[in-house]
Amino acid sequence: MSDTTPSPRSAGSMQREFIYVAQQSRVIFSPGSVQRLAQEVQALGARRALVLCTPHQTEMAEAASASLGGASAGVFSGAEMHVPIESARRARAHAASVGADCAVAIGGGSTVGLGKAIALESGLPIIAVPTTYAGSEMTPVFGITEAGVKKTGRDPRVLPRTVLYDPELSLHLPVPMSIVSGMNAIAHAAEGLYAQDGNPVMSLMAEEGIRAMSRGLRRIHDVPEDIEARSDCLYGAWLCGTVLGHVGMALHHKLCHTLGGSFGLPHAETHTVVLPHALAYNAPAAPQAMARIAAAIGASSAAGGMFDLARELGAPTALRDIGMPKEGLSRALELALSHPYWNPRPLQTDALAGLLDDAWNGVRPEK
Ligand code: NAD
Repeated sequence: MSDTTPSPRSAGSMQREFIYVAQQSRVIFSPGSVQRLAQEVQALGARRALVLCTPHQTEMAEAASASLGGASAGVFSGAEMHVPIESARRARAHAASVGADCAVAIGGGSTVGLGKAIALESGLPIIAVPTTYAGSEMTPVFGITEAGVKKTGRDPRVLPRTVLYDPELSLHLPVPMSIVSGMNAIAHAAEGLYAQDGNPVMSLMAEEGIRAMSRGLRRIHDVPEDIEARSDCLYGAWLCGTVLGHVGMALHHKLCHTLGGSFGLPHAETHTVVLPHALAYNAPAAPQAMARIAAAIGASSAAGGMFDLARELGAPTALRDIGMPKEGLSRALELALSHPYWNPRPLQTDALAGLLDDAWNGVRPEK
């Protein structure tokens, strides 16, 4: 349990003291931008780009590989959720055997994660072509799962050098996946607004990211193939992912990491369910952040408004509906308290037990 007292600066005040270190990556945002892939590989000075994907996205990856002509080192379609160490080893060996000098990750956070696992060891530059809203392409954070435990770390080598955002590639991302992926992105920005190491630039990006994402998701919910709405969501994903890459996260991300890692809950759905409750918990300690979140989603309160947004979009709102066993709640609480970390409101056992209970039952937060 942490006894850290809330920092008056970071808990939503004007943030006039800060350190800002920009992470460098080249971002190209445009419908059809994937057609620039060959140009971007060449701009990195690479000659043999290995295209990575999940088995599900092989067709998209094959098309990207074909567009590279002689600069393609083929397709490796072994990306898996949470980057198991075995798949990272296979991908690293394959990249070496085909003499790859660049990795093109086309897909969601799992595929970008596999590219990061290769880059971590070999230093290969990554070009990311994101097709979900998870945001991993904008962060130097990697995660690899070994013996059932996901270990994460930061390393500047894994930050993709070039990111091609092409809203046309997410046109067919199924609506339920689009919604939870977008809520996952919103969670990065929401916690970025009360981060201990937050800064005004990231706060601007966070607020705009939440605004663009919630607007886009509402439209996708009604018209899934609306390219402008897809563009709004991908723009939001870029902003929210950038926030995740620049500032530290708190209670919400720690809880989701615990629930995902120890109970096998689905990543984006867990973020969607927990977010309103984490915001309700932190609301008393970060009133200005909450006001900005509420304004960005067009609600009168951040926590209640986020719950209503998830419900309006047909997303899950209870942990019990996404596979969390009720008897696991006390273990989740224990794990959440076992490694102290910074949070705007100190971690209090009873209040956290209440949070988990409400999230399990799907109770709308009142704040
Ligand atoms: P995902 O990458 O696992 O993708 C889920 C499924 O959707 C896959 O089968 C994929 O092939 C498919 N898919 C992706 N785009 C599609 C499209 N446009 N159309 C149809 N199907 C498509 O899911 P995700 O939510 O993007 O990523 C989750 C993973 O990313 C988690 O492991 C999480 O920890 C990680 N992540 C890491 C960071 C970081 O900074 N390191 C940030 C966010 C998420």
